[in-house]
Amino acid sequence: MDHIKQEKSFADLYEEYLSKDESEFDSRISFLKRIQRSLVDSGETQIAFEIVGRELEKIGNQCSSELGFVYNSMIRISCQSGEFSKALEYAASAISVFDELGDDSRLPMIYNNIAGVYLKMGEFETSLEYIDKAIDLSQRNNDNHSLAKYLNNKGIAVENIKGDGSGAVFIEKAIELKEENSLKSDLPNSYMNLADIYTYTGKEDEAHSLLKRAREVANEIEDEFSLAEVCRYEANYYRAVGELGSALESLNTSLEYHKSKGNKSEILQRLTVISEIQEIVGDVKGALETHREISKLNAEIFKEEEARMVAKLQSSFSTMQKLKEIESMARRNRQLDEANRLIVQKNEELLEMQSQLSSANQLLKERAETDSLTGLMNQKKMFEIVEYEINRAKRYGNRLSIIMLDIDDFKVINDTFGHQKGDGILESLSSLIISSIRKIDYAFRYGGEEFVILLPSTGVEGAFSTAQRISESLKRTNEIPVTISIGVAEWSDESVNDLLLEVDTLMYEAKNTGKNRIVSR
Ligand code: GH3
Ligand code: MG
Ligand code: MG
Repeated sequence: MDHIKQEKSFADLYEEYLSKDESEFDSRISFLKRIQRSLVDSGETQIAFEIVGRELEKIGNQCSSELGFVYNSMIRISCQSGEFSKALEYAASAISVFDELGDDSRLPMIYNNIAGVYLKMGEFETSLEYIDKAIDLSQRNNDNHSLAKYLNNKGIAVENIKGDGSGAVFIEKAIELKEENSLKSDLPNSYMNLADIYTYTGKEDEAHSLLKRAREVANEIEDEFSLAEVCRYEANYYRAVGELGSALESLNTSLEYHKSKGNKSEILQRLTVISEIQEIVGDVKGALETHREISKLNAEIFKEEEARMVAKLQSSFSTMQKLKEIESMARRNRQLDEANRLIVQKNEELLEMQSQLSSANQLLKERAETDSLTGLMNQKKMFEIVEYEINRAKRYGNRLSIIMLDIDDFKVINDTFGHQKGDGILESLSSLIISSIRKIDYAFRYGGEEFVILLPSTGVEGAFSTAQRISESLKRTNEIPVTISIGVAEWSDESVNDLLLEVDTLMYEAKNTGKNRIVSR
């Protein structure tokens, strides 16, 4: 009747579970527990491992005893899937949940399951340690139901360590307790475990009757799994007593059950034993067929195993890929940084080159515009500047004056004192001119020993007095008596050439009228 109550299919339960809101924690967990139960009952432990495991991943820091039970069941489920470390992880989660709830009555149950994990792992000593803890706690709590289970498992662990039948005593005690307390659903398992020990310790008859009892109880409670298990143990018994035909029959029944559930590793185990027996009895044809089935199954299992491996590899591959991408991104960034650094450096070099170039250009320009002996601007520059200042004077209505001077009888000076002395006189006259004019005025070397001075914002009177100052100073400065003839003109709207012609004319007038004098207009 339990079956009818057990009701809804996994699919229905799962759908309902998914329809629950995340906030309905308790309800979700209770559905998850039912899903877990439903899958385990139908032998779908692998699916339970994956689906329930995935849902548990999503659970945050919630805590409830239902959750503790789900974790606890995951220990056995993971163990059956061969995921031992995951099983121990779930055990730790279960312990921490019940610990948080302050409920230590659940510890023996968890310890027993941990013992089961170590048993499957072949770590029998550790398994025994946990079972003893579980037994100790359940005895203290007077929990005979649990104690019976744990004693059974202790028998298995001890037997696995010793292999001499000394585990039997614990299983016998377990059976006693289970019978006393009518724990029928737990009985077939203990009967079978004990029968197994009896089979190889020379108590075949006892073994046989235990298996019969196991079958009776399993039938009574309609426990299909146990019935299939009984067949397996029966086969062991029949093999031990040399009834190979019966052994094959039992194995085939067990095989059918596991085939209906698709438990491939169980099927493989049964087929292997079947083929061994077929070879012993000389059923060559049957053995060949079984071998064919085994290799087909092996290929399938291998394929599944392979698919799992491929998935694992792929996920690690995609992780590697991601790492590589990050690395290459970092490398690209480094290269980019390096490139940027180079660009900055090249830019600086370029700027430096540009500034060198522009100062070189400046120098060239200055050279092209400067007279090398005196450092004054040359005639070419003079035309340019006179034009510029005329335009300015025009635009702002300013006055503008110009002075032209020429050394008197310079040929004679050169001839008398030498060309070098003449150069010196040209240099000192230039310095004298520069120191006699304002910052805004310009001085040019117009030709050999002719100079021009341009005076913006200056009328003829101002220019005249500048000319006078220069002329007077010159007479005082040089040890060789030098005089100059000067023309001074104020710009009155004429062109550059006309203005220069005019001042030149005035300067020649000074020459022609006795030298060492200034003629202005
Ligand atoms: P005047 O009084 O009529 O101006 O007579 P001058 O001898 O000064 O006139 P002229 O123009 O005939 O002669 C100019 C001389 O100046 C010719 C040349 O030898 C000299 N001279 C021109 N440039 C330089 C120069 O750079 N250095 C020297 N030492 N002499 C120069
Ligand atoms: Mg002269
Ligand atoms: Mg001259």
